[in-house]
Amino acid sequence: MSRSTLIIALTFVAACRATAPSIPPSPPDALGESGPPIRISKAVRWVRGSAEHRALFLQVYRWATAHVEREAATREPGTWAVVADADETVLDNSLYQVERAQEGLGFTPESWRAWTARREAVPLPGAVAFLARVQELGGRIAVVTNRRVAECPDTEAVFHEHGLVYDVMLCRPDDGPSDKNARLEAVARGTTAVGFPPLEIVAVLGDNVRDFPGRSQSLRDEADEAFDDFGASFFVFPNPMYGSWE
Ligand SMILES: [Mg+2]
Repeated sequence: MSRSTLIIALTFVAACRATAPSIPPSPPDALGESGPPIRISKAVRWVRGSAEHRALFLQVYRWATAHVEREAATREPGTWAVVADADETVLDNSLYQVERAQEGLGFTPESWRAWTARREAVPLPGAVAFLARVQELGGRIAVVTNRRVAECPDTEAVFHEHGLVYDVMLCRPDDGPSDKNARLEAVARGTTAVGFPPLEIVAVLGDNVRDFPGRSQSLRDEADEAFDDFGASFFVFPNPMYGSWE
């Protein structure tokens, strides 16, 4: 190849790079195919359609299971507990997100109440087996959720329908705070209405940093050491659809 031919070739390569086609827009969600195009956010599509989402849930539940098995080996049955959030930790509500997008609308308490009443949330990957394993090991399971007390019966029905075992579900009082710390303390001190003795909380699972005792978004600005409980006794799941990070 002559020097001039080489220069032309290199120029062509550079031009191709400079004018490389942009990434095509994401296709509309399949649910929109029968009607006008509907844009489902990438976050919702990732939750509903990616292998990575499923892998992450199975991975985190696997880590949590191994942790709980180690903790159970040195504790008496009935003396310890696992605390789990419900939505986007145990229950998949992404269909609600799709439906709201189809209507061009966002979250409202009324539409959420209607969604919970339909009882159509489904278990996330790994959730059924994890909860069953905790109970098998002698642990109590406290579901601490910010679903309202009025939504609690429908939520408990979904858990029962799908074989999601638990011992107590602590919903958010209708006029109560979203802060979960008081409810976690009630589990630890044995002051929940179900009459359990004080329980040592050996693991907390959630998709929102505020599911974890004393934690909030301000953690984001802390040193890495402030995250030491994560992966140790705290297990966090990905939720790119909504959260206190918004
Ligand atoms: Mg949640």
